[in-house]
Amino acid sequence: MRSYKISKKISDFASVFHENSFCLYIVGGAVRDHLLGNESSDHDFATDATPEEVIALFNHVIPTGILHGTVTVIFRGEHFEVTTFRTESGYADNRHPDSIEFVSDLSEDLSRRDFTINALAVDTRDGSIIDEHAGLDDLKNRILRAIGSPVLRFTEDSLRILRGYRFSTVLEFTFDTATRQAAKSLGYTISNISVERIRDELNKMLSANRPSIGLVAMKEDGFLKYILPELTMGFDIAQKGIHKFDVCMHNIYSCDGAPKENLIVRWAALLHDVGKPESLSIDDNGLPTFYHHERISASLADTILQRLKFPNNERNRINHLITHHMFHYTPEWTDAAIRRFISKVGIDYLDDLFLLRFADSYGASGKPSNDRLLLEFIERINTILEEESALSIRDLAITGKDLISSGIPQGPFIGHILKELLETVLDDPSNNTKERLIIISKRLYEKLS
Ligand code: ATP
Ligand code: MG
Repeated sequence: MRSYKISKKISDFASVFHENSFCLYIVGGAVRDHLLGNESSDHDFATDATPEEVIALFNHVIPTGILHGTVTVIFRGEHFEVTTFRTESGYADNRHPDSIEFVSDLSEDLSRRDFTINALAVDTRDGSIIDEHAGLDDLKNRILRAIGSPVLRFTEDSLRILRGYRFSTVLEFTFDTATRQAAKSLGYTISNISVERIRDELNKMLSANRPSIGLVAMKEDGFLKYILPELTMGFDIAQKGIHKFDVCMHNIYSCDGAPKENLIVRWAALLHDVGKPESLSIDDNGLPTFYHHERISASLADTILQRLKFPNNERNRINHLITHHMFHYTPEWTDAAIRRFISKVGIDYLDDLFLLRFADSYGASGKPSNDRLLLEFIERINTILEEESALSIRDLAITGKDLISSGIPQGPFIGHILKELLETVLDDPSNNTKERLIIISKRLYEKLS
């Protein structure tokens, strides 16, 4: 196990506290991640100074959560969250302490934390590690254990249950038996937690190397149904052909198959087949089929993401990817067919749509896919994109105004004619000149009027 090396910046930051007779400890995730050899994105500190005293020590302080004792100090361009040692008591609503109290003792502060591996502290005076809950042992043995009584800790704050599944996924740690048992029996209390906090935890889980670790554990423990019931509906629904897994597991493993730094595709993969249970029918050979499941899946995914209060742009993007994930390219496709495909899907979606399809294959077989047809399709799309032919109305050599100047009256005809012109140009790009398009549009207008 590594020791903690305090950087020059943190040591300079800490000396401001020490010179004023306050102590300062690095706590929480930064200590855990550092000892595991991982980079930590943020640093949380605990101190015996009150928030007002911290504010008086520095020039730039944001009162982030001053009622809970947290302020953010901007120190040489970095944001440091500093929280006054505190205890919490009474959790009538399974989510907020009824009261918090500032204390002068680090031990009390460490005992209010969720897991032993999150209750390690580093004394900034000498880098020594304070480990009052055997967190170092659990870190070494890769065990996730609640501090004290897991039932009590999860009853106090139900979010800790989901945090548990999240940490076990991101760190690939095993749950201590009693901790997992408590998570299982108290899972239903998650309904007390705001959807925003649930969404943020799920996003962290979906950024792990293998989100399936937590998603499968949540499914096994009967917890997934409280958060994503639509996913569990696919459990035990078998699929045919190359599919190795049922619909629920296929969605979950597809999520693993998407790149971890692309949360949009991760979510699209997780939800891309949620509509299959609703669209299930049995064909003449007694095999399951799922006609138009992509449309039902997209609409269900939209409902789920709305419930989780995803921003509209992210929700719409995921919906669009799911809607278009069922394409069936064959080498016989003409260039015109490929141009029509690009125009329908939109250039900005192509990369993510192919990532989704590779993820989908991964989720079917459990292996990375090198689908030759898909690779050939991408190559042909790239060739077409290099040709820079018109792929949207914006790219036409003519505008609505040009049509009006050529004598076609303003009104709904204009939009309709532009759409038809695009179809013509997608079929044959050599039509994309002003002269040709004017001639074609006059013909179209005569037919329409
Ligand atoms: P990460 O930053 O990777 O999400 P973290 O452990 O730093 O992980 P934070 O949410 O930043 O998590 O919280 C910092 C610390 O505060 C935690 O390590 C833990 O000690 C404590 N903590 C956070 N949320 C809770 C909670 N719901 N109950 C008890 N302690 C908590
Ligand atoms: Mg943190």
